[in-house]
Amino acid sequence: MTAASPLRTGAAKRLAQIDAALEAAYRSPEAELGNKPDPLDEAIYIILSFQTDLARFGSTWSRLRAAYPSWDALECASAREVARILRDGGLHRQKTRTIRRLLAEVRNVAGEHSLDLLRAMNNDEAERLLTRLPGLSWKAARCVLLYSLGREVLPIDSNTFRILKRTGVLSRRAVYRRRSLHDAIQAAVPLPRRRALHVNLVVHGQRTCLPRAPQCACCPLNADCPKVGLRVSADKHVPMPIAISVGARAAIAEGDARL
Ligand code: SF4
Repeated sequence: MTAASPLRTGAAKRLAQIDAALEAAYRSPEAELGNKPDPLDEAIYIILSFQTDLARFGSTWSRLRAAYPSWDALECASAREVARILRDGGLHRQKTRTIRRLLAEVRNVAGEHSLDLLRAMNNDEAERLLTRLPGLSWKAARCVLLYSLGREVLPIDSNTFRILKRTGVLSRRAVYRRRSLHDAIQAAVPLPRRRALHVNLVVHGQRTCLPRAPQCACCPLNADCPKVGLRVSADKHVPMPIAISVGARAAIAEGDARL
């Protein structure tokens, strides 16, 4: 590894150990995460996931689809009505704006509310298209590739970033918003293990290695974790300014590892 790498020496070996321990503990319960086989559905599902937990954005998704069975119907609805439906998921006005901008741009690019054109693209082409769309980060793009297109990529969400910092895979200076970080972690994990490891890391971050109250006593990684017994003070949490965009909020949130 070069000096600029966000990975510490021995990261690939440590990632393999983490993969084995998490697989033994969780068995990659992918169905719990509710990701979508349709690429545009998945993109919107990821936008709904910003700054909220799985239960809330899962129910927000169900309400949204019940109200608008087609994305054409959502585009024709008033912003106020859509925001009312998204209210319980948080950031409802920003998410409404982002989803409507995304739908408009998808219609411009594809001529319809569909991202099926991605299926004929290679990973680089698909990532480039997705990250030019409103509200979609590298993580969101790779979620679409993974869950909707079956590609062997490794999305790095805030759970993964936090866990890999705490367990010493990432250097203290690793920065979430740099694409090089996402690429370096992905490259260190063998293709066939990327999907299961991603799912297990998300689940581990939601059940055990929590942002403010990590459950180290029952953690399957505690034997080798340099942060075992970690206590996170409340002042590590930095409230977000209200006026920034949902994309910026998501980027800030994802970069806030709350170590
Ligand atoms: S031992 Fe604690 S800090 Fe380390 S991965 Fe487990 S829960 Fe997280």
